[in-house]
Amino acid sequence: MYRNTTASRPATQHIPSVSSRLLGVTHISSGRELAANELDLINLAREVIDANTDAGPDEDGVHTMGAAVLDQDGRTFTGINLYHFTGGPCAELVALGTARAQGARHLTHIVAVGNHGRGPVGPCGRDRQVLLDYYPGIRVILPTRNGLRSVLIDDLVPLATAWSIEHGSEMA
Ligand SMILES: [Zn+2]
Repeated sequence: MYRNTTASRPATQHIPSVSSRLLGVTHISSGRELAANELDLINLAREVIDANTDAGPDEDGVHTMGAAVLDQDGRTFTGINLYHFTGGPCAELVALGTARAQGARHLTHIVAVGNHGRGPVGPCGRDRQVLLDYYPGIRVILPTRNGLRSVLIDDLVPLATAWSIEHGSEMA
């Protein structure tokens, strides 16, 4: 029933639907194949979690993800997650704090990588909102149905409500 209702709408009226979401990022214009500096960032995040995970293969742990960010001057910063049932920060958020603590103000790229060779993992909803609010325009490296891609954060939070300390919540 829902599908029939959707199909009967005029083609020019864009209504986001579950089916369009399931298409992945193939239709997102900002999605592109990875550049050399983006591949380097993946390797950096992988090295960080490989060196610091507390979990052996097939074991649970509290440090299981590494993240790396790149700033506009080409500097890189890293973080690992601090899993905790109260809502410990993901690796991405730790990397953002690390970058800020070392003076980086304009971040251009971010990636998170799982331990034990799991490769890049896309940011969770909380991270996406934080990235959108702090660094609109940042590129996120994540797996898609077409392989690893670099995508603008704006495309990962469609119809977002943005937040800033000056304006509070407002449509992005
Ligand atoms: Zn997260």
